[in-house]
Amino acid sequence: MEIQIAGKTLIPPRVFCIGCNYAAHIQELHGTIPKECVVFMKPPLCLVPPGREIRAPRGQGAFHYEVELVVAIGKRGREISREAATDYIAAATVGLDLTLRDLQKKLTQAGHPWERCKAFEQSAPIGEWTAAPFSFDLHAVPLACYVNGILRQSGNTRDMLIPVEGLIAMLSETWELLPGDLIFTGTPPGVGALEIGDTVTITGGPLGEFSWRIV
Ligand code: ZN
Repeated sequence: MEIQIAGKTLIPPRVFCIGCNYAAHIQELHGTIPKECVVFMKPPLCLVPPGREIRAPRGQGAFHYEVELVVAIGKRGREISREAATDYIAAATVGLDLTLRDLQKKLTQAGHPWERCKAFEQSAPIGEWTAAPFSFDLHAVPLACYVNGILRQSGNTRDMLIPVEGLIAMLSETWELLPGDLIFTGTPPGVGALEIGDTVTITGGPLGEFSWRIV
């Protein structure tokens, strides 16, 4: 899936995802709050634009929605300071970090990587982009997920343990961030299961509202 960032059309080089960035979500998964957040990646092929059908993985247990703020990086940089990080955000939207929850528990218990539960086909639906500079505060974006029109998950980016600028600073210690890199910034509490036939809708206040049908 191509995106338009800073006047260029490109395929995102990487899709970074942050786990454990909202205390209340960690608690609902019966976890203890770690000293550092979890970082994992999904292949850019996992991205799905709004309005498409998403085929639920079969025979793999619970298939969960996680609504998240997603930001796109606009320029190259490494070892970016928190203060400078704002300049690296080119655009924002909301997305779903789709997760095979039962498999995630098994993999975590076995000490295995998360690819099979997080990086499967169509596991990263995202909305349309809103370009920076923003007319609203990225640190107070309301997030919500509806299944068949019923509110199932809600939160606000103000409750992130590490704000977007901190995530950019942290990731850029390990990776040279590139234009078009995406960051899924973690999910608030209220995650739950999707079933075949459901319509999942996510909203991010001023970032808009986007839907996908599960088939
Ligand atoms: Zn997530």
